[in-house]
Amino acid sequence: MTHDAAVLKAREIASRVLTPAAEKNDKAGRFSKEAVESLGESGLLGLLLPADFGGSGLGPRAFAAVIATLADADASVAMVYLMHILGTATISAACPRAAQALGPVLKEIGAGRHLSTLAFSEAGSRSHFWAPISRAHRNGDGVRISAKKSWVTSAGHAQSYVVSSLAPEGTGPTDSTLYLLGAGTRGLSVAGPWEGMGLRANASAPIALDDCRVPSDFQLTDDGAGFPAMLNVVLPLFSLGTAAVALGLCRAAVAGTASHLKSAKFEHLGQSLGESLPTLRAQLAAMQIDTDGLSARIDDLIEHLEQPRETTMLRVLETKAAAGDVAISVTSAAMHACGGAAFSKHLSIERLFRDAHAGAVMAPTGDVLREFIGKSLLGMPLF
Ligand SMILES: Cc1cc2nc3c(=O)[nH]c(=O)nc-3n(C[C@H](O)[C@H](O)[C@H](O)COP(=O)(O)OP(=O)(O)OC[C@H]3O[C@@H](n4cnc5c(N)ncnc54)[C@H](O)[C@@H]3O)c2cc1C
Repeated sequence: MTHDAAVLKAREIASRVLTPAAEKNDKAGRFSKEAVESLGESGLLGLLLPADFGGSGLGPRAFAAVIATLADADASVAMVYLMHILGTATISAACPRAAQALGPVLKEIGAGRHLSTLAFSEAGSRSHFWAPISRAHRNGDGVRISAKKSWVTSAGHAQSYVVSSLAPEGTGPTDSTLYLLGAGTRGLSVAGPWEGMGLRANASAPIALDDCRVPSDFQLTDDGAGFPAMLNVVLPLFSLGTAAVALGLCRAAVAGTASHLKSAKFEHLGQSLGESLPTLRAQLAAMQIDTDGLSARIDDLIEHLEQPRETTMLRVLETKAAAGDVAISVTSAAMHACGGAAFSKHLSIERLFRDAHAGAVMAPTGDVLREFIGKSLLGMPLF
């Protein structure tokens, strides 16, 4: 699949499957199985996967474009897709070591029949996902893990979970290892409902791991090498992906606001809101400027990921922090410009506004990223 074909497929799924159901699924907090099925049938679940496993072998540019297209229609589905791509990238990075066990999983992903996700955050260390509280214990040549994973997108719907846990002999708080647990692993269960303010349709529920046995073939990193994998494999794509979700939300907010300003009328004046009020036109313009600014920032990050250089990690941190703020600011401006119609939920703007708040909360949170950037500018250690 080429870049253009991938974007076309995402557009087709967005208009046929996502847009018609987004409002209903948001209201009901319902995970869209149909969306995942369509993404699987279209080949998009294997977007970054090498061709050997049936994937398209595309890179960050196609990834960002597909995510922004999905998020424009339904950010909940875009986040499910993002976490799947991150899970897949982590499994794929581990594959040469455990090819026999992981190869069939990757082939199922390439065939569009397997959804994966990340289970890093724990109740005990909250947003500090780099410091799991749980610890893996040796069990023959594998391990046993018990853990309280506090938020897991696609919980109960994914076929596999990439799980972090302190390495059996790890001595420091970030000495973690990553493992792959199938959904059918004994002791793995969804431990509560998902009732978020935003991204209500992405099943980000807690997961309990109760003495789960993981064979050595399903260990994804060397002992204690989970943290470097989080930083080098997961974080760059997560930052780009969450920024692309934010971009999709901003584009939808601009389009929704423009449509409202054109269609809503002051009948007594014989004008639309947009014709009548220069303040609203200025607000819409500011939203567009911020949205295009975010788009340029995303292009800059893509260039850095395609050709890594000294400033790449700084761009990774900056982009997620900036995108979270832009998404909140643009959707807040949309709420303001569309007034009571947005407030009373007559427009989808209100859903965009709620969904936009998730990006800054998802770890590393905007606060933590600003802390890391500030420390690195001052030459201070980050941890
Ligand atoms: C929709 C959604 C989906 C998610 N999906 C997943 C998933 O699939 N997998 C997964 O592993 N996790 C997932 N998460 C969890 C997420 O990544 C965070 O771990 C979680 O949101 C942290 O929330 P908390 O309130 O417990 O954080 P807390 O750590 O309690 O943070 C509270 C506040 O303190 C601030 N803060 C914390 N530490 C610092 C610091 N050092 N400096 C400055 N400020 C700080 C934070 O920015 C925040 O404002 C998801 C979260 C959401 C909202």
